Amino acid sequence: MKKMAFIDMEGVLVPEIWKYISKYFNIPELSVTTREVANYQELMNYRIDILEKNNIKLEQITDIIHNLKPIEGAKEFLEDLHLNKKFEIKIISDCFYEFLNPFFPKIGISSQNAYCHNLEMNENGLIEKVKYSRKKGKHEIIVKYQKENNSMKDSIAIGDAFNDFTMLHLVDHGFLFQPSEEVKRNAPIYFHTMQSYQEVIHYLDELRT
Ligand SMILES: [Mg+2]
Repeated sequence: MKKMAFIDMEGVLVPEIWKYISKYFNIPELSVTTREVANYQELMNYRIDILEKNNIKLEQITDIIHNLKPIEGAKEFLEDLHLNKKFEIKIISDCFYEFLNPFFPKIGISSQNAYCHNLEMNENGLIEKVKYSRKKGKHEIIVKYQKENNSMKDSIAIGDAFNDFTMLHLVDHGFLFQPSEEVKRNAPIYFHTMQSYQEVIHYLDELRT
């Protein structure tokens, strides 16, 4: 039987991309997160507005993202989950293919195994809007797999923030990876907080014994 691992990208496998963009272009407003603006779509409209005001094009952003590295050990962690622990890995991210594409080869995952959103550009190369690939949340992807008759038994999900909660609820083992204090405080008690990839692997090893 297939065991699935649904894994978030930013904050779990790769660094926070907006923080980096904010620092690189020296625009502090761009580091605002869903902690300050709870509604993600509102937050994205705000970010797109700021980029437009500063005339920062999508290509400039993807250029700098190419310099970013995944979190150390991310690729090996995924290999371990797949080869030794026999998980089928699916990435579920509220980020965009346009931003994440450079990372997929670096973590050894095909973009076909990732569920993200898309960005639309205008004729000047500025980001115009987000084309959202789901309406409600990350759980929609897990429900899709359930409907296709995959058992979710022994499946896991790993995320670091509020937008990961709905997917962590739907699996047998939901992991919060290095969450902020605020995220941890608001998380259900049955989510497992993990500080490292090794801790996740150790937890899974213990299950088998
Ligand atoms: Mg995240």
